Amino acid sequence: MDYDTYNTEAVQLAVDLANLVSADGVAVAELTPDSDALRAACETFVAAHREWFGELTDVPLSGVDVVQVAELSHCLRDVASAQTDQQSVDRLNALLHQCRPTPRATNHDGHLHLHYTDDDAPLTEQLGATVSMAFANVIVRQGRNRIGLCAAADCADVFVDTSRNRSRRYCSETCASRTTVSAYRARKKAQPSK
Ligand SMILES: [Zn+2]
Ligand SMILES: [Zn+2]
Repeated sequence: MDYDTYNTEAVQLAVDLANLVSADGVAVAELTPDSDALRAACETFVAAHREWFGELTDVPLSGVDVVQVAELSHCLRDVASAQTDQQSVDRLNALLHQCRPTPRATNHDGHLHLHYTDDDAPLTEQLGATVSMAFANVIVRQGRNRIGLCAAADCADVFVDTSRNRSRRYCSETCASRTTVSAYRARKKAQPSK
């Protein structure tokens, strides 16, 4: 796997983790560590990304795993919602400091690339190292504005803008067209009836 492909997939992993529970309209911060909804969201996420973790993805997750996955999700959202360059740098560094990625060269798949933890590190360590480096690479190489929050009403999903002109405002086509439709209805409603 070449580095950029690897990084693109790691970025998607980070985005999916940042959107762990926001898809249901629930903020991570509102969930208590022992909430069933949070556990379910974490287990769904890990199961959907099983290829990153090998045998370590055994569910059910421990209570500590659930808290750590949720915390990571929360930190990624913090980085994505930074309003200034300094805030972005500070939040990114806090994330890196917490996750402590340790680069290591490997050619296990026939291509030399980096892993950021030992292969037998606990799940949350592997996850943290991978997603923190993914966000760090995007921000350092392409700028913090590449990572944003969806502008649609009732959606706060994190997305990474890969468009050429950095013009993306919505997490998905669904949110973009939903917004267009409601703006159209609002304009129509505002017009005096004949
Ligand atoms: Zn690898
Ligand atoms: Zn959206």
